[in-house]
Amino acid sequence: MMKRVAIVGGGVAGLAAAYELARLAREGAALQVVLFEASTRLGGIIETVHEGGFVMECGPDAWVTEKPWARELAEELGLGDEVMPSNDATRKTYVLVDKKLQAMPDGMRMMVPGDLDALDASELFSAEAKQAYHHEIDRAEELRTTAPDGDESVAEFTRRHFGEEVLTKIAAPLLSGVFGGDVAKLSVRAVMAPFVAMEREHGSLISALRARSSDSKKHAVFTTLRSGMGTLVDRMIAAIPEEWIRLAAEVRFISYGEEGWLVGTARGVERFDAVMMAAPVDVARSLLQPLDAEMAQEMEMDASSSVVVGFGFPDALKFAVPPGFGFLVPPGPDSLLLAGTFVDQKFADRVPQGGRLVRAFFGGKAAERMMRCGNDETAAVARMELARILGPLPAPQVTVVRRWPRSLPQYAVGHLDRIKRLDDRVREFSGLYLLGNGYRGVGVPDLVRDARAAARQIAPQS
Ligand SMILES: Cc1cc2nc3c(=O)[nH]c(=O)nc-3n(C[C@H](O)[C@H](O)[C@H](O)COP(=O)(O)OP(=O)(O)OC[C@H]3O[C@@H](n4cnc5c(N)ncnc54)[C@H](O)[C@@H]3O)c2cc1C
Repeated sequence: MMKRVAIVGGGVAGLAAAYELARLAREGAALQVVLFEASTRLGGIIETVHEGGFVMECGPDAWVTEKPWARELAEELGLGDEVMPSNDATRKTYVLVDKKLQAMPDGMRMMVPGDLDALDASELFSAEAKQAYHHEIDRAEELRTTAPDGDESVAEFTRRHFGEEVLTKIAAPLLSGVFGGDVAKLSVRAVMAPFVAMEREHGSLISALRARSSDSKKHAVFTTLRSGMGTLVDRMIAAIPEEWIRLAAEVRFISYGEEGWLVGTARGVERFDAVMMAAPVDVARSLLQPLDAEMAQEMEMDASSSVVVGFGFPDALKFAVPPGFGFLVPPGPDSLLLAGTFVDQKFADRVPQGGRLVRAFFGGKAAERMMRCGNDETAAVARMELARILGPLPAPQVTVVRRWPRSLPQYAVGHLDRIKRLDDRVREFSGLYLLGNGYRGVGVPDLVRDARAAARQIAPQS
């Protein structure tokens, strides 16, 4: 029997679900699918702008290499030749301390050093912080046996292992640079699960990192596509039947009853057997609220807004930046900027010959305030903030500004338990699937993995 599936939202999660359903339909599964996208373009937060020879990412610029699901999808889509590692030979990240960029020691995995000699040689940390790092290895047994049974914040976890200085100098800026989030609230189990597993096994995170196979250290940390992340979106779209996709089709209500699912837009109401809810968690919550208040309550979470500003300069020689991938700014009252990326040094083929591409990232309260600014004003703030750290900027050839309101849901302490409760509620509604970045990971690979797995559950076996 033909199964009708509604997908709400055409970001990477909704698209990966549609792509997988299309693949299964080609293999003979009896499926009729409608992908409802509120805006006039697909891809959601993934967007690559090509202008003047610059390849500018407005949202994600790469995925974490260790997670294979985005790469697998790219290869399946015929993009094997496009898959490209970050330039890890020149990997260096700086932290702004006392108004100066200080290099993080080589071999760091987030806040955990893989190379203690590099740590000792580093100027980023005080003698006390270095000592705390060395001492963490001796405290392995104590850390293993006293690890809390339940969740805790990233701040508490980092403090227990390495102390306050490492928390403020590395963990806080790293986490706010990635999640736009507050380390005092973010759940360590949800956002740093591998470290929690390392603690459980080894106690010391430094020892655990040293015990890892040398193989896993050989891979570049990030992977992307030569022509940009937007190509992943374009290729998925090309593999989805055109008649499945509806743009400018905002879903305004959803109901569930004996007749199945009803999905309503301004153009009318249609019946479906399953709903894959891949809209941002705020939207999903308000659509599902009338069905189940308890479910909606579990979906109530803080989310951080972000603003991205990319500047493309024709002549790198006129704008020198330190070698490496970029810098992080510890969150604080004095700074709006959270991170800056030296894009042309992080990845190959991002600029025309001799060009320079720098990207500024704002999150949290600063981004919230910037939501109300126009593009010119936002670009001016970004220029000023970058100049404060890097020195005067020449006139850019290309400027791209993007605002992503409430785009990064905050996985607060207890998030995994919340998701268990949410899954219990969802199971009460046959054919409902929650996809997207509010639940089981914010990264592109996680979203691809989840969406494709859900699609396989839905498709009737042919
Ligand atoms: C600035 C930034 C940088 C990031 N960098 C990285 C990175 O480098 N690597 C990485 O792995 N991850 C990164 N992330 C995270 C990742 O990009 C996102 O988590 C992911 O793209 C979200 O995809 P999604 O499909 O869940 O949601 P979205 O991309 O938000 O898509 C949701 C879609 O639903 C549509 N929609 C909304 N309401 C409705 C409605 N009522 N009806 C129909 N459609 C609706 C929206 O228009 C949108 O197209 C970054 C995120 C941000 C914000």
